[in-house]
Amino acid sequence: MSISRGTILVTGGAGYIGSHACKALARAGYTPIAYDNLVYGHEWAVKWGPFVRGDILDRSGLVDAIERYRPQAVMHFAAFAYVGESVTDPAKYYRNNVAGTLALLEAMQNTRLSRLVFSSTCATYGIPASLPINENTHQSPVNPYGASKFMVERILTDFRHAYALDSVALRYFNAAGADGDCEIGEDHDPETHLIPLVLDAASGLRPDITVFGDDYPTSDGTCIRDYIHVADLAEAHVVALTKLERGNALPAYNLGTGKGVSVKLLIERAREITGRQIKTVVAARRAGDPPELVADAKLAMSDLKWTPQHSDIDTILTDAWRWHLKHHVGVKRKNIKAPQQSIQC
Ligand code: UDP
Repeated sequence: MSISRGTILVTGGAGYIGSHACKALARAGYTPIAYDNLVYGHEWAVKWGPFVRGDILDRSGLVDAIERYRPQAVMHFAAFAYVGESVTDPAKYYRNNVAGTLALLEAMQNTRLSRLVFSSTCATYGIPASLPINENTHQSPVNPYGASKFMVERILTDFRHAYALDSVALRYFNAAGADGDCEIGEDHDPETHLIPLVLDAASGLRPDITVFGDDYPTSDGTCIRDYIHVADLAEAHVVALTKLERGNALPAYNLGTGKGVSVKLLIERAREITGRQIKTVVAARRAGDPPELVADAKLAMSDLKWTPQHSDIDTILTDAWRWHLKHHVGVKRKNIKAPQQSIQC
């Protein structure tokens, strides 16, 4: 029988990245407690430990969950993450992402819980002056979503010094893909991310994919991003937690591959992998989109000894497509043409 490594509170544990972290935690011998208000998360995504329905703004609900399950650390994913909405309704983002995190930190203080892995983002860098982006690149977010995450990083720095609250911020680039066993995957409503929308166009759930701008100063004119497989992100959380438990984690790590993929190239690879036509429509640039965002993730690779295993774009698209066929097509359109055998779950 394997020895339990203990219990971890996972806020946002019913969400896209949080649920994959729960699976990785369980595989590493921990029991994840998924704490989620189900505003964007899904109860079906909680499979590897107990579920507590609750809001991060509810400090006493958090204290109750902590006292009940006695976790040794927190992984904090719960946040709103729609960049466009954050511009039109910043109060919603500062309330949930900043005030909510403050409530969580106070609940941790009340219960003498002192370790936190925080879900941060490359959006804290804004539009970088140079590439690739390393952890010392100036952080200058250009929207309230990025600003809310940046503010939390600042709060964590202050709490580290004042209250010895030990934390690590993981700054993700573009989270993508789905669980290799097809148990969980991306399901946002509304969906705004490129890969799920491209796959919707491939399966016929949408007529086409809109390419936001083909006049950027990049090799093919479309935006370049660093896509990182959600399973690799989840694994990075587990190694960061181990490092935190040993007391030698650094305050922040970028999580990316260091390789950029353009929108055009991604759509070409999706055509190849799905075997489907994908109609594209070119539209104007989306406000606030930098031409290129690519990580320098050498620090995570050397200090956390973390190497992305599933993050080449073909593996990301293959896993996302298998999930798409099982979950989205299976649910929304039962009569769709059967997929190739080799790519079914
Ligand atoms: N994108 C696009 N069409 C879409 C959605 C996204 O062309 O329908 C582009 C977007 O401009 C960006 C890239 O795809 O360059 C990745 O966007 P996504 O929203 O997936 O992630 P972000 O980089 O904004 O975090």
